[in-house]
Amino acid sequence: MKILSVEGLSFRYNSAEVLSDVSFSVNVGDYIGLVGPNGSGKTTLIKIIFGLIKPQKGSIFLFGANSWNFKDWYRVGYLPQRTLFNPYFPATVKEIVSLGLFSKKESEVINKSKETMIDKAMRLMDVLDIKNKLIGELSGGQQQRVLVARAIVNEPELLILDEPTTALDPEVRENFFHILREFNQDKNVTIILVTHDIGSIGKYASRLLYLDKKVIFYGSFEEFCLSENMTDYFGEFGQHLICHRHD
Ligand code: ADP
Repeated sequence: MKILSVEGLSFRYNSAEVLSDVSFSVNVGDYIGLVGPNGSGKTTLIKIIFGLIKPQKGSIFLFGANSWNFKDWYRVGYLPQRTLFNPYFPATVKEIVSLGLFSKKESEVINKSKETMIDKAMRLMDVLDIKNKLIGELSGGQQQRVLVARAIVNEPELLILDEPTTALDPEVRENFFHILREFNQDKNVTIILVTHDIGSIGKYASRLLYLDKKVIFYGSFEEFCLSENMTDYFGEFGQHLICHRHD
């Protein structure tokens, strides 16, 4: 089943085209690495998917509904590009997580109280015992876990993460990817992970979407590594760099 469909999308901020005729679709359970150089339109694409900006051409379908009519935003979790909190930012861990809560239909709210959902997300991301701390007092890794807890508090079916690991040290990063894999494999959460780290995304994601204003490649890593078109595009050396860590 298709969870996201992007069809013939084109976008320009001013004069230069940032996205040009972009089309792809994502199935339930996919784990997509969305990769491309700086300025290739990744963040713009995510903003369009969330309806924050409107494309000049093309359409987006979320769970089969045109995104302009889409109301069930609790089904989609979003981790924006890293925001550093200042030490005096006046919100606790629990408050930050609860900001992610969208109201569902009445019947669902009766079954699961908001408190339970917030606690569950904090427990999953291992921040329950620091729930009353100010977000700004925490380490970068802890802050990131809180932001993930906020992104998953509605138990989304689709999770979109924009450069989530840039500020994390290697050990915390490994742990973070481990948690994402569990969401994907055990809970069947569909994941789109935006990254410029093309060298290691193959270890985690099952499919690669390489964007550079248009879709340069979309398919499995195996297909990517065997693709002669991609050898032409990246050069043998470049393709090898991307592929050799994907064992
Ligand atoms: P990426 O996330 O891949 O780095 P972006 O989507 O952020 O790429 O940016 C794509 C292009 O659009 C870049 O050239 C960037 O400078 C430009 N751009 C991004 N945001 C704006 C904006 N608000 N106004 C004008 N140009 C923008």
